[in-house]
Amino acid sequence: MSPQLNAFQVKAIKAELLELLGHLREDVGHELEDQQGERGHAGVRETHDRGDEATADLDSTINITNVSRHLGEIRECQEALHRLENGSFGLCISCDEEIELNRLKANPVSSRCLSCQSKEESGHPEVHYASL
Ligand SMILES: [Zn+2]
Repeated sequence: MSPQLNAFQVKAIKAELLELLGHLREDVGHELEDQQGERGHAGVRETHDRGDEATADLDSTINITNVSRHLGEIRECQEALHRLENGSFGLCISCDEEIELNRLKANPVSSRCLSCQSKEESGHPEVHYASL
């Protein structure tokens, strides 16, 4: 069990993560449906206008980015739930120190303490999305 969280807090965080996970899965489901709908349209519609095609490509890219971001968030939720199960929740995955409680309350999927997260972000300025 995480040293700084009592059973009640763990339960509350778990419920929150499961709810978030449900929402994210719904979002991804809708986004994938939209994606297929648009592709279907493009296939039926005979467009010879290059401008239209470029716009369609751009829309697809934006959708894929959203889906990819949401998949990354789903993975973060699952990892946080896993850490709740095995008792490592609330501990920084980089330095093993306790993650600030306020930080966990604000964002239960935080896996690093503030200082490690800052280092991580400064080391990798690009945001990494989960691959599809
Ligand atoms: Zn740390």
